[in-house]
Amino acid sequence: MKIMRSLLAASAAMVLTASLSACVSDEAAEAGPAGGDSDTITIGIKFDQPGLGLREGSDYTGFDVEVAKYVAKELGYEGDKVVFKESVSAQRETLIESGQVKLIFATYSITDARKEKVSFGGPYFIAGQDLLVSADNSDITGPESLNGKKLCSVAGSTPAEKIKKEYAQQVDLQEYDSYSKCVQELSAGSVDAVTTDNVILAGFAAQQQYAGKLKLVGAPFSEERYGVGLKKGDTELCGKVNDAITKMIDSGEWQKAIDNTVGPSGFEVDTATNPPKPDTCS
Ligand code: GLU
Repeated sequence: MKIMRSLLAASAAMVLTASLSACVSDEAAEAGPAGGDSDTITIGIKFDQPGLGLREGSDYTGFDVEVAKYVAKELGYEGDKVVFKESVSAQRETLIESGQVKLIFATYSITDARKEKVSFGGPYFIAGQDLLVSADNSDITGPESLNGKKLCSVAGSTPAEKIKKEYAQQVDLQEYDSYSKCVQELSAGSVDAVTTDNVILAGFAAQQQYAGKLKLVGAPFSEERYGVGLKKGDTELCGKVNDAITKMIDSGEWQKAIDNTVGPSGFEVDTATNPPKPDTCS
């Protein structure tokens, strides 16, 4: 009985703590237009894309993270005033529309469909859709050679949309919520290929646990212009973001960030399209 009572007390305490912490995070989420309270800014990034947006404990690394920090600093937020929130591909528009994040730097391609719900600063990087296969694969050379193959991509992403639109008849597309899961499936042999932007795939291929096991096909078949997601119609914020990006590029910090984050994977940035010039805000 005594044990029972203390168990009950313990579980009541747990419920209480859970609901208290739910209150706290709800409040933070509702902090509204700032996407954080007045002296912090909440920024959406990926948590599992090496070289772009990666969380390891309390460390955040990658090119998206570097551009996010630079822009945040220009907006007046530094150090622990910048709060990162995971933003998986399918959640990005919702996170912005609901005010849970102020800005998103998450390999987020600028598209007309997305522009119906959010606005974009940038672009700050140009990538292209590609395929990742096992190192000994020789029959997959591009999207046309995916006949009857199992292909993994992420729900709510432009690469998955492109496959559904243009190659749906031939390809068995499986959708997950993150590319890290797709890459695990590929390495386990349960899918034949993973598709998303070349720079993302290169980051995974270079990870120690996949070294020598995976390779990029290396024939990009789309143009992915990475923008900074923000509330639809906020041209003032968009203008500030673009000024910051331009400053980052002109000062050489953009190139330094590329070299330190994307560089180690061996990925070669297309200098014909990079660094890009931000679009006009609308
Ligand atoms: N850049 C593409 C997109 O915005 C693919 C990468 C991603 O899903 O984050 O959908």
